[in-house]
Amino acid sequence: MGVEYDIATALDGLEIGCESGEVICDHPHEGPQSVDVERRVQYECIRIDESISVFETFGVDCYDVWLPDLLRCSDCEIETLSTPTAGFDEALVDLDVTWNGTEYVLDTKELTVIAYSPRDEGEAPPSVPAPLVTPMIERGDPGGIRRSRIERMVPELRAEGAVELADVLDAELNR
Ligand SMILES: [Zn+2]
Repeated sequence: MGVEYDIATALDGLEIGCESGEVICDHPHEGPQSVDVERRVQYECIRIDESISVFETFGVDCYDVWLPDLLRCSDCEIETLSTPTAGFDEALVDLDVTWNGTEYVLDTKELTVIAYSPRDEGEAPPSVPAPLVTPMIERGDPGGIRRSRIERMVPELRAEGAVELADVLDAELNR
């Protein structure tokens, strides 16, 4: 029972394919990087505490349920969770992917938890400006405000020329 059981129950059978029918790594690559679903995959999962009130502001109820957040291809696998965010239960799991005849879905029968950071560990989430939070909410990606993902977003924004926004987030992370 415990965390492993809770995650396995919540994630079992969830579809993860995208429009192209291919499963793509959620970590940034030069271009879309497909995930080899013949082998086990790593997924970062989250469960959000109600103290993270930004989602409530948007009228989104994503609290207290385990959600798949970030899929990693074999090139991006990690051993532990870096820079955990308070208010988020974060878990790095490894599990199988199967084809159900229509789409790729998560198969959690043999899910294992590699790393786990409970919600009372880590630093407060950065205060993310609305222009960034709104698209996250719209695409159903509440995990985007986690510190680890904001850290990753800063250089991407700089590369895109959104220097001011990058500076705001950088300052938030180092507050
Ligand atoms: Zn990758």
